[in-house]
Amino acid sequence: MTTAAGWVEIDTGAIAHNLDLVRTHLGEGVALCAVLKADAYGHGVDLVAPVLVARRVERLGITGNVEARAVRDAGFTGRLLRLRPALADEILDGAAYDIEEWLGGREHAEAVTDAASRLGRPVRVHVSLNSTGLSRDGIPVDTGVGRATIASLAGRTGLDIVGVAAHFPREDAVDVERGAAVFGRESAVAIELLGNRRLDRHCATTYAALSVPASRFDMVRIGAALYGDSPLLDGALRPAMRVLSRVAALNDYAAGGTAGYDRAYTLQRDARLAVIPVGYADGYHRALGQRAEVLIGGRRAPVVDRLAMNTLLVDVSDLPRTRVGDEVVLYGTQGGDAITSADIERVSGQIAADLYTAWGRLLPRRAVEVTVRTASIG
Ligand SMILES: *Cc1c(COP(=O)(O)O)cnc(C)c1O
Repeated sequence: MTTAAGWVEIDTGAIAHNLDLVRTHLGEGVALCAVLKADAYGHGVDLVAPVLVARRVERLGITGNVEARAVRDAGFTGRLLRLRPALADEILDGAAYDIEEWLGGREHAEAVTDAASRLGRPVRVHVSLNSTGLSRDGIPVDTGVGRATIASLAGRTGLDIVGVAAHFPREDAVDVERGAAVFGRESAVAIELLGNRRLDRHCATTYAALSVPASRFDMVRIGAALYGDSPLLDGALRPAMRVLSRVAALNDYAAGGTAGYDRAYTLQRDARLAVIPVGYADGYHRALGQRAEVLIGGRRAPVVDRLAMNTLLVDVSDLPRTRVGDEVVLYGTQGGDAITSADIERVSGQIAADLYTAWGRLLPRRAVEVTVRTASIG
């Protein structure tokens, strides 16, 4: 039983299923780094990490030290990679968790080296290259200054270089193919500049790894697929999150009136409106107001108002069996229907992760394990 007005359900069985599916698809020969940044995309490192540890995942990707500590507490003993440049203080504070750092350019190399000297030992790093043109933290390999920067890293005693990385700016097959080809060439140049060591090369995310095999190199960094937020693999990935509430109140109002803030919704007919006790302060973004739908009794009903801080209004005139206390699904499946990431993206104009990472962190979470009977996957 939950006493919260809105909550998030995490299906740990779906996480396990998605991991197995991705591993089977990738086969041997490519390492998988499961990405748990942003508290496992809002799914909770505390809920997700044990699933991955039990399935012997050997590499995890994080951003903050809080996630690093949580995965070590969950018994993870494998390699831990930070997926963005860290602040020098973060490197020091995270030293106990044995994190491989993401080296984000020349100035950042100074900060990492400085942290290493304060720690009194080298810091393991992956050097970010700008081969894909993300121009966020990668070192350009196509300029003399960039190549000199890379060469200069080799001599720094504070840096133990273990990998070269890149990150794609766009989920587009042609763009990824082109970027992967450039990364292939430039990572070879970088490795030579670094003294021809045996380094891990990696650039692929879920989209790249599952749609452009040539982008996989030695390792892939998989987030979205793990949580079932990807239509790839023929829709066989299962969304692991549901966002739920209940009908708190039901009222009938006459045609011609308006409902909610700004008088934004005019009742075209006598209507029955349901109050759902979740609003924008719970991460249900105002961009969804008057555009999204929810599920009640397995059927869709429209969100009609512009949302309040902790409530929203749904027109249930066409669902006459609705009662106070009925379960409401704001994201995920109910009965035979689902509010999908694609639905959320279409109505909000935002990527779904922008919203569900907030839902997962603002609403209380609970783990469930849904058993789904599916045809065996060939
Ligand atoms: C978030 C992230 C990933 C994972 O991306 P998905 O599309 O969720 O699989 C991989 N690499 C980096 C650097 C990231 O920031």
